[in-house]
Amino acid sequence: MQVKGKAQLLRYTADPEQTIALAAKLCYSGDEIDELIEKIGEKDNAKFIEILTKMNHFSPFEHASFTFAVEGVSRALLAQITRHRIASFSVRSQRYVSEGEFNYVLPPAIEALGDEAVHKYERQMEQMLRWYREWQNVLGNAGEKSNEDARFVLPNACETKMIVTMNARELMHFFSLRCCNRAQWEIRDIAWQMLGQALAVAPAVFGNSGPGCLRGACPEGKKCCGLAAEIKEKQVALRKSCLADNA
Ligand SMILES: Cc1cc2nc3c(=O)[nH]c(=O)nc-3n(C[C@H](O)[C@H](O)[C@H](O)COP(=O)(O)OP(=O)(O)OC[C@H]3O[C@@H](n4cnc5c(N)ncnc54)[C@H](O)[C@@H]3O)c2cc1C
Repeated sequence: MQVKGKAQLLRYTADPEQTIALAAKLCYSGDEIDELIEKIGEKDNAKFIEILTKMNHFSPFEHASFTFAVEGVSRALLAQITRHRIASFSVRSQRYVSEGEFNYVLPPAIEALGDEAVHKYERQMEQMLRWYREWQNVLGNAGEKSNEDARFVLPNACETKMIVTMNARELMHFFSLRCCNRAQWEIRDIAWQMLGQALAVAPAVFGNSGPGCLRGACPEGKKCCGLAAEIKEKQVALRKSCLADNA
């Protein structure tokens, strides 16, 4: 069965903006912690978070964490997202869980070629499923030991699911790289979904998040997509819709 990528914000640090502001204020204040907590609770922390960002004082952002469920994505995406070393991952195992009925991701470029191309792709997936089951049987009938070797014939398109936790600093970095048009379409789509959900709960933190071109010159040099204005519009529209949903 074909599947499409979906990210869902499951949990996050309570009052993420207050938590970040408290951690930062502590650095600059002689107050007792209880006094600080009281003062922080009364204040609008958005302005302070803006100042921290301008100062590049990012370590307080590490105290707010965000946990997402990501599903309907390919093992190709898994190889990319797990390069982000500061994030924490729990991924569905291909040893303990049989892929005897595996779902797969259809790249939009193949879908755009029309029905014939899509059917060809589906037949190829079915072929790989047959090969997989064949090896499962030869190797010992769908147990952990047979799964671990039978999976070598599975495609990169094979669906995986994971729980991903990142702190706000790592998330901002992730959005810079993976919301960029230079990033591959599947991880880019997931990154924008995650950005929308993070924005909705911590607008002061993620209000300016997204590819580097939102905050200055495109960092991609000659590989620049030239679409900074469109990206800005997309981010502004996302921000507005997330904040409206949350109002
Ligand atoms: C468009 C694009 C194309 C890519 N193409 C390729 C490719 O062809 N081949 C390939 O192998 N990868 C490729 N990558 C992956 C890329 O090289 C990074 O591995 C990935 O984006 C994770 O980035 P990161 O290391 O900055 O992030 P994280 O691992 O999340 O780390 C965040 C930051 O923490 C710091 N940090 C983390 N670990 C260390 C450390 N050990 N030492 C010092 N500082 C550290 C760094 O400042 C880092 O930027 C590509 C990525 C993108 C976005």
